[in-house]
Amino acid sequence: QPLLSIKDMSITFSSPDEADIEAVRQVDLVLTPGKTLALVGESGCGKSVTARAVLRLLDKNARIPKGEILYDAEGGRVDIARLHPDSTAMRAIRGNQISMIFQEPMSSLSPVHTIGDQIDEIIILHQRLSPKKARERTISLLDQVGIPGARDRSNAYPFELSGGLRQRAMIAMALACTPKLLIADEPTTALDVTTQAQILDLLRQLQADFGMAMLFITHDLGVVAEIADDIAVMYLGDVVEQGDVFEVFRAPKHPYTQALMNSVPRLQRKAERTRLTPIKGTVPSPKDRPVGCAFTSRCPHAFAPCPGQRPERTPVSPGHVARCHLLTHVREEALA
Ligand code: SF4
Ligand code: MG
Repeated sequence: QPLLSIKDMSITFSSPDEADIEAVRQVDLVLTPGKTLALVGESGCGKSVTARAVLRLLDKNARIPKGEILYDAEGGRVDIARLHPDSTAMRAIRGNQISMIFQEPMSSLSPVHTIGDQIDEIIILHQRLSPKKARERTISLLDQVGIPGARDRSNAYPFELSGGLRQRAMIAMALACTPKLLIADEPTTALDVTTQAQILDLLRQLQADFGMAMLFITHDLGVVAEIADDIAVMYLGDVVEQGDVFEVFRAPKHPYTQALMNSVPRLQRKAERTRLTPIKGTVPSPKDRPVGCAFTSRCPHAFAPCPGQRPERTPVSPGHVARCHLLTHVREEALA
């Protein structure tokens, strides 16, 4: 039973003197309790924008002209795409039922308050506990995320903690409201390899304990292998391939996914930092997106229909789909 289903969602950005830019195009994603979906791709592909749409934290010039974000809220099913970002309904969801952690903890932690005070505040706001009870809960959360000496550390300011401990504090803060969905936007990218592995273990453990769904944004396929159940690969606003992570890793069908996989030499090695090495060519600007497949300019297999025709979502095996003409056309001749 899905917790959140994104259906056929597009996101456009408008600017006063240029044509609208389609940053995300007809994306379908499903998030399930207890499961992790990894959203993967190079920077600027639309991963973060997609995640921010779920929380309605998009920039003022962004719109969701098409599609649905169906969420099983506590009071019944709602379409987040149709909620006003500042509405009571959206506020009840954001930071309460759905919370988010970022690459840089300082973007969500206040530098001038102790971490204990910041977490207390969320607990008091959402659970209406007394300050004393809230602090007990804060300490137990800090303990749960593996912060040693949680009682003393609750009185520390963020700058007094190491990067790894700060990240743990931010996770504790995100969990303070016991979210049903945790969105993690590159939460381990800024950390060293050992700390990264510890944080991934922690997130897995917390997911097992709390049963929350997780949307995990990363450009690191090693991290995907560690944490994800399902994967969706994005390229220039399109989800070009998605499915069970094991299935997609075993038999990637989209040339872009294949290129990503080829750029990672030892995917299986646990906790190894495996950044995507750049693929030949550059991602076109979303301003001059090709009419057909967005990957045409970099694809070694591009053929006649690719530049002019957008490939359809095509099933590969149950739950595994890709958008590529190779799945539907006979490739007679390569493009020159
Ligand atoms: Fe390559 Fe064509 Fe498939 Fe796009 S549709 S990935 S250009 S073969
Ligand atoms: Mg990003």
